[in-house]
Amino acid sequence: MAKQPMLKFVTVGRDMPEKRAADARAHDFQEIYAEFAERKAEEQAGRCSQCGVPYCQSHCPLHNNIPDWLKLTAEGRLEEAYEVSQATNTFPEICGRICPQDRLCEGNCVIEQSGHGTVTIGAVEKYITDTAWEEGWVKPLTPAQERPESVGIIGAGPGGLAAADVLRRAGVQVTVYDRYDRAGGLMTYGIPGFKLEKPVVMRRNEQLEAGGVTFRLNCAVGEDISFEQIREEHDAVIIATGVYKSRELQGPGAGAQGIVRAIDFLTASNRAVNFGDSVPEFESGELNAEGKRVVVIGGGDTAMDCVRTSIRQGATSVKCLYRRDRHNMPGSQREVANAEEEGVEFEWLTAPKGFKGDPVNAVVVQKMRLGQPDATGRQSPEVIEGADYDEPADLVIKALGFEPEELPKLWGADGLEVTRWGTVKADFGSGETSIPGVYAVGDIVRGASLVVWAIRDGRDCASAVLDRFAATAVAAE
Ligand code: FAD
Ligand code: SF4
Ligand code: SF4
Repeated sequence: MAKQPMLKFVTVGRDMPEKRAADARAHDFQEIYAEFAERKAEEQAGRCSQCGVPYCQSHCPLHNNIPDWLKLTAEGRLEEAYEVSQATNTFPEICGRICPQDRLCEGNCVIEQSGHGTVTIGAVEKYITDTAWEEGWVKPLTPAQERPESVGIIGAGPGGLAAADVLRRAGVQVTVYDRYDRAGGLMTYGIPGFKLEKPVVMRRNEQLEAGGVTFRLNCAVGEDISFEQIREEHDAVIIATGVYKSRELQGPGAGAQGIVRAIDFLTASNRAVNFGDSVPEFESGELNAEGKRVVVIGGGDTAMDCVRTSIRQGATSVKCLYRRDRHNMPGSQREVANAEEEGVEFEWLTAPKGFKGDPVNAVVVQKMRLGQPDATGRQSPEVIEGADYDEPADLVIKALGFEPEELPKLWGADGLEVTRWGTVKADFGSGETSIPGVYAVGDIVRGASLVVWAIRDGRDCASAVLDRFAATAVAAE
């Protein structure tokens, strides 16, 4: 009888790829997990119980066919596993690295629910596509035939690039506009290299370019080119600009020197360390934690990236202030654990009241407690009077979240409807906005979200654009 490769979850325990020791990884910006060895990937994939109703798949925003590619991996049929995996995901190796799997696929794995430890879906997904790149199975985009229609995509983040990929494969002429000098959006300049090494993103940009996608970089829409011009040049336009307006701190001294925005801090680090760019604010120390007592304010994934970047830059101490407790923070628990291992201290239930010095030398911290649940059921933090203290700090990083820029005003696009939060109003299935022929995807529609959701939106929107082109062609016949 053939050897059964699956259902090994009772005999084989959950095992992640090896994580580098904290003291070794805290000094560089390389990813912290090693690659699975071939046998290990097969063994871990073989733990899957091949559920008839796979909750992992229904909780993956891309509805990846997880049971099938796990089975193919367990059987050693990696090239086929890659074909199945890439059929639903534009960047599987990126999602395998940075999706919060504990909240998505793995958090809903049936064997996790039965106490056996989830299948390591993300690590296997990464392994399959990294291997595909090494083996040359990842092919250039080669449309079967060219089409006359052209699409302008504003924003080269995962949302815009996923749409570009689908449209270009169908033969559409695609131009991607971005204000930065490199494509990739937050995958390039926001997310640090220790979570996502930059060559992984750059080779995807190169693949798109080699397949005929035109990039117009260093081109800010609304400044270097108008929105109207882009509409005139293309048959359809997709807005994929993300959200970049940082929420600001209040309180006395909030404008002091040494209090910086998370996005500026992370972008400077990614540019200087990962790309070797000359970044004057990094070199001058303005956006560099080396030798400083750093305080990061916020409890989301951006805050986690800031504290861990500060450690790697050689900060003398790194503290994170968050106004709720550990269980109520928005950031991933896995990232908190990584940060703690690397030497970050968390001060739960604390909030900044003000700042001393200019340049800043301390944060005035007020202690909080969790009060009654609010309308959403979440406990609101309340100040504990008389318990303030000073936290010494030479660099304060604000990581309080992002809001959308006012696109209709910035672009003179009065017809572009936005929600009361400033995000672009768009149909979630197609990305259609209030202006015919203009679509929107990713964070600019959802608010700050995830790479995997931006990919989903980009792919869905591209399909809707293709349907529209097909309908127009039929009507013209
Ligand atoms: P973006 O990636 O923001 O790309 C938008 C692009 O549009 C940018 O390149 C920008 O330059 C360009 N643009 C904006 N305005 C203009 C203009 N006027 N003209 C021309 N170009 C313009 N998600 C995860 O899934 N896992 C993580 O671990 C994770 N970590 C994160 C860490 C940080 C620090 C941050 C900030 C976010 C993180 N996210 C993470 C969220 C994720 O990066 C975003 O949800 C995702 O990148 C959104 O994709 P997008 O395509 O909508 O926008
Ligand atoms: Fe899980 Fe993300 Fe991969 Fe979906 S894309 S299977 S959620 S890691
Ligand atoms: Fe396999 Fe878990 Fe998905 Fe079931 S839920 S198919 S066990 S990965």
